[in-house]
Amino acid sequence: MANILDAIIIGQGLAGTALSHLFISQNISFKIISADEISSSSKIAAGIINPIVTKRYVPVWRATEFMDFCHQFYTKIEENLEEEFYHQKNIYKIIGSAEEQAFYQLRFQKEILLKEYANEEIIKLDTDKINAPFGAIELKNTSKLTVEKYLEISKNYFQKMELIFNENFNKDVLRIENNLVYYKGLIAKKIIFCEGYLAIKNDLFPKLKFNLVKGELIQFRSKELQLDKILNKQLYIVPNGDDMYTAGATYEWKELNEHVTKKGIEILQNDLSKIIKTPFEIIQSKAGIRPATIDRRPILGFLANNSCIGILNGLGTRGAMLAPLLANELLQNMVNATPIHIDCDVNRFG
Ligand SMILES: Cc1cc2nc3c(=O)[nH]c(=O)nc-3n(C[C@H](O)[C@H](O)[C@H](O)COP(=O)(O)OP(=O)(O)OC[C@H]3O[C@@H](n4cnc5c(N)ncnc54)[C@H](O)[C@@H]3O)c2cc1C
Repeated sequence: MANILDAIIIGQGLAGTALSHLFISQNISFKIISADEISSSSKIAAGIINPIVTKRYVPVWRATEFMDFCHQFYTKIEENLEEEFYHQKNIYKIIGSAEEQAFYQLRFQKEILLKEYANEEIIKLDTDKINAPFGAIELKNTSKLTVEKYLEISKNYFQKMELIFNENFNKDVLRIENNLVYYKGLIAKKIIFCEGYLAIKNDLFPKLKFNLVKGELIQFRSKELQLDKILNKQLYIVPNGDDMYTAGATYEWKELNEHVTKKGIEILQNDLSKIIKTPFEIIQSKAGIRPATIDRRPILGFLANNSCIGILNGLGTRGAMLAPLLANELLQNMVNATPIHIDCDVNRFG
């Protein structure tokens, strides 16, 4: 009989990758099944890690916990793998009006966390290059994960450890009996689904309530822009080095597919021309579907009626920031029976 693994993970996006690294660190035995040809919103994510909702200047849910854990996590993985993909990068949030300036100053006095993640003073940007007559706020302690590189390097590492199968998971072959999971030659105590938006097709979780959001972004070149911080005003403009930038993203709730569209590119191009004054050339565009939920909270834990079946999903627009801590909470639940946070428990949907 094959060895009994602690777990099988389905999917190697931001969710499955964080969980896999943490499993390795805790000597939990597992295998990953993930198909390169199946879409992954992680592969196109801009990788911005920012705990402040810049429209209203409020911190996101559990901001400090997520930020502290993800910083520690990505730094450690970089060290272990001797690679660089996580960079501290401040964000210039462009202010749109005098009213917004006053609103920000009020928020800064009221919101303790803003002091940790933003400077009080409003700064001037180079208005020859950037359209910012009311200045900008500098968000600090924010960062950028080069997601594609992080995923690729992690995949190579998992491959070397013979932990990952590049194949399409076939639910028809899955069998769960006497608290054990059987899949092809594998036997495990748990199966944990990290499938991103494709969870909507997984009939093991018929009650989940997603509110999926398609997003498009563009990659452009601008020699003259010479930007080293992230810019934000409606759009994010992320410097990638060598005069290349990512700008995004759009939000589309109705036409949920992964195709880039003329309309999406036009919106981005138009918004971009309102922010930067330098010439730019669009090189590429990409589209993906964010696994957002109806209550804007992640989905985590094991099913109440079958504790062999687990999930880490619902990362929405902030997978890079959320995935490490949530993966750790799932691990703690599995190993030490630590309860899952009530707001993100998979069983909350009834
Ligand atoms: C345009 C855009 C920009 C974004 N920008 C940011 C950003 O700047 N910062 C940020 O934090 N987040 C960003 N996001 C959100 C981020 O992409 C998501 O939160 C995150 O990628 C979700 O990760 P996941 O692992 O849950 O899902 P996914 O990345 O979709 O991963 C799912 C994995 O499961 C695999 N899979 C699914 N079904 C099967 C199957 N049957 N068999 C085998 N494998 C399977 C897929 O191949 C994939 O590897 C952005 C999203 C979009 C669309």
